[in-house]
Amino acid sequence: MSPEPAHHGSAALHEGRAPASGPATEPGEPVRARPDVSAAAVPSLPVPEVFAALDGAPRGLTPAEAAARQARYGPNDLPAVGRVRLWPRLAAQFTDLFAVVLLVASAITFLAYALEQPRDPATLQLAFAILGVVLLNAGIGFAQEYSAERTAQSLQAMVPHACRVLRDGERQELPARDLVPADVVVLEAGDAVPADCRLVEAQELAVNNAALTGESDAVARVADPVPQGPLLEARNCVFMGTDVVAGTGKAVVFATGAATEFGRIFRLTAAAPRQKTPLQQQVAAMARRVAGVALATGAILFAVRVPSGQPFVDTFVFSLGVMVALVPEGLPATLSVSLAIGVRRMARRHALVKQLLAVEALGSTSVVCTDKTGTLTQAEMTVVQLWADGVAHAVAGVGYAPVGEVTDAGPVRELLRAAALCCDARLVPPSGPHGWCVLGDTTEGALLVAAAKAGLDTAAEEARTPRVAEHPFDSVRKLMSTVHRDPDGTYVAYVKGAPLELLARCDAVDRTGTPVPLTEASRAEVVAAADGLAGQGLRVLAVARRRVAGPRPPLEDVESRLTLLGLAGMYDPPRPEVRDAVDACQRAGIRIVMVTGDHPLTAEAVARRVGIVRGPDPTVVTGAALDALDDGGLDALLAGSAELLLCRVSPEHKMRVVTALQRRGEVVAVTGDGANDAPALKHADIGVAMGASGTDVAREAAVMVLMDDSFASITTAVGLGRSVYRNIRKFLIYLFSHNIAELVPILAATFAGFPLVPITAVQILAIDLGSDVLPALALGAEPMEKDVMDSPPRPRRERLFSTAVIGRILFLGGIQALGVCAVFFWHIHASGIPYAHFTKSDPVYREAITMVQAGIVVSQFFNALAGRTDRQSVFRAGLLSNPWLIGAGCFGIALMAAISYAPPLQAVFNTAPLAPADWAVLAGFGALLLAAEESRKWVLRHRRTLPKGGKR
Ligand code: ATP
Repeated sequence: MSPEPAHHGSAALHEGRAPASGPATEPGEPVRARPDVSAAAVPSLPVPEVFAALDGAPRGLTPAEAAARQARYGPNDLPAVGRVRLWPRLAAQFTDLFAVVLLVASAITFLAYALEQPRDPATLQLAFAILGVVLLNAGIGFAQEYSAERTAQSLQAMVPHACRVLRDGERQELPARDLVPADVVVLEAGDAVPADCRLVEAQELAVNNAALTGESDAVARVADPVPQGPLLEARNCVFMGTDVVAGTGKAVVFATGAATEFGRIFRLTAAAPRQKTPLQQQVAAMARRVAGVALATGAILFAVRVPSGQPFVDTFVFSLGVMVALVPEGLPATLSVSLAIGVRRMARRHALVKQLLAVEALGSTSVVCTDKTGTLTQAEMTVVQLWADGVAHAVAGVGYAPVGEVTDAGPVRELLRAAALCCDARLVPPSGPHGWCVLGDTTEGALLVAAAKAGLDTAAEEARTPRVAEHPFDSVRKLMSTVHRDPDGTYVAYVKGAPLELLARCDAVDRTGTPVPLTEASRAEVVAAADGLAGQGLRVLAVARRRVAGPRPPLEDVESRLTLLGLAGMYDPPRPEVRDAVDACQRAGIRIVMVTGDHPLTAEAVARRVGIVRGPDPTVVTGAALDALDDGGLDALLAGSAELLLCRVSPEHKMRVVTALQRRGEVVAVTGDGANDAPALKHADIGVAMGASGTDVAREAAVMVLMDDSFASITTAVGLGRSVYRNIRKFLIYLFSHNIAELVPILAATFAGFPLVPITAVQILAIDLGSDVLPALALGAEPMEKDVMDSPPRPRRERLFSTAVIGRILFLGGIQALGVCAVFFWHIHASGIPYAHFTKSDPVYREAITMVQAGIVVSQFFNALAGRTDRQSVFRAGLLSNPWLIGAGCFGIALMAAISYAPPLQAVFNTAPLAPADWAVLAGFGALLLAAEESRKWVLRHRRTLPKGGKR
């Protein structure tokens, strides 16, 4: 793999702006219709001249022009972030603490061999074995880290990045990488700016340039020419990598890819340093501690054995070998692999996790704050009822096909006309395999469909009364308004939005075409009608109108003293998979808080449909009520009813609720789709953005992106996160327990005064790096256990090495240690030879140490099988259901058999052939371990179910 991309396309208006090196302006010339134009001059040109300079047009490029430019300038891409560099990574494997300890140990052993008189080939073997450990370990670690990192990168690349472009007068959605200079892009709040562009239209547009300037305040942007100055300060330009935080606009692209300002900075900045997740830090800390114990053990053994008359060098080499054997070498790398497997599994289930960190946080999620539309529902809006002048009108048909009738359409035509004119979305007729669909906001799409069903031709209406100004929708005002020029030259504003917000700005209501002042009674009538629609779970929009004096009235004038035209209620079916996911969350002790901008009654009806609300009295709180609460009040609210719906809230409320929940010690996942949701997404433990419908800004701020937008995918990801954590615990227990089985016989023999070791350092290395590596990896890849979602979330502060985990390590390791001590001393004693007469070459000794090694290998196989489940019986989970583990275990036993029977290996390991009866004894001992572990789980299951179930 080449560390640099073959080519990253880019284009600049003027070669002076191109990066100093690289193919920024290749393969063609810079876009330059007028030789005297440079990018720095773009801000000062009037709009028509910008188009002329770029050889573009306000209606965009034709497909042929776009294709030609694409061929000429290549894609609008930057080289992949933080590309993995091979050599430094490989070198790092040799400079970490363990590697250094082992290298030093190997060097000392070589030295000991050189000084020894007479020289013992076993010392040389050990020296090479330790060196082999370092190399193997570095190789495995490197391969694992590399693949884990590649996974993370490829996932990042999957996060969709699209933009809206005018091509040949038609608005289209394109992958941002297909943009070319002179393309006209359509921008709105929440978009990431896809290239460097000059604005040609801007309505209340504001951008956040933090990525370029570090300044995180929103800055207003305009379309008018500005005096020439530093390009980044030009108020009529927007730049790649920055975000649109408010308003709408159109802009023409003047630089793409590496030629953009962002591209230039990007080339200068090194890849961000990799951060270790807390879990990785915990494991590294534990591994360091164990290494400390290993060092101490080596030192103690040395100190005990030297005075007992053992040869000095021999004892030194032996102690060093034990120490090396106890160092948990491959642990951190196995951990990365386990996390990466989790990430890959989540991606397969529609949840893209951008950081390994999120995997473990996901597993401990205790509260999910979720949106409604699109996450719990399908976001396929259909207007089913209209209300105008006190009368309800049904609308037939489902989906976006404009087929269906509006009952008695006459009185609602003006309502629908106003609603349709006040929309940015477009209804797209069927093409190819796709049916009718909506480009843009689905709420608006539903209004366009209803208008079409009533026989209105929106395009003709737009031509007759063209839009001259607009105030885009935002989720704080919950309103959108547009100003139009009527054929008679007067101006009219149309406003649509959340009913209560809009009603508050109305002073009249339309009665058969005439505005009649709103009275208390008629207001109450409208509120009752809106409540009636919302109570059926419909999203309700109100529509109003007013005459305005000129083409650009200020917002306060447009959105006040309005005449209400009526209401539209739209149905958005719940996602079928959500109910089960909600059930799973409830079983798993995860609280779901619905946070929506919608009407309380709509929210409650939908919450009931999907099972979030089951009791008679959910707590429903509006954004206004939240504002009235101080922090103490908010804490009390969150500590109260489990069924909590927050309605008519704005993104700021979301942020406040997330912070308050975290204050209570909760691990909070929060969904968001708009630009304003970014702070809450960043602040939450797990920010979840929508891949299909969300904005770029939300996707950038989140650590998890749902490709299907569904709440069910959050639940699946939480389950997988829990499972990853469990798997990590499983292989840690597996790996650490065998250390006990290795250490205890050595200590026992030393203290019993036996002159030799029951297991040699080379044998221990064969276990650690031969038979144990694969089962540990297989445990790290265990499929999700069925009961992962049956217990409450793990406490936030729970350590990976909890008392329970250490208890299990001691329990399993203790049984193994007892077993191997028993076989060793039984063999030695059965021979009747006194301790002092044993030599290394004694056949009984060789057989005994072979039994010890085989005993550990066989019992580790059973240990791995037993460790597959936490509480469930492995027989219920299917003893053989992880074929990788079975394969890995068989490999270990085959390796042990080779060490026992193959003469060259016998020479290296000082082993002897075992009899079939010996294997039978070891298998029986392994079965005992399994039985002990099954009994422990049985006790655990029954102890835990007693208080809940009451009976066994
Ligand atoms: P949800 O939880 O359902 O996803 P939300 O929190 O995203 O909702 P918003 O999109 O902020 O809610 O909408 C809040 C209210 O604003 C809606 O109930 C609706 O009445 C109104 N609204 C939504 N979209 C538009 C629009 N395009 N134009 C005008 N008003 C809108």
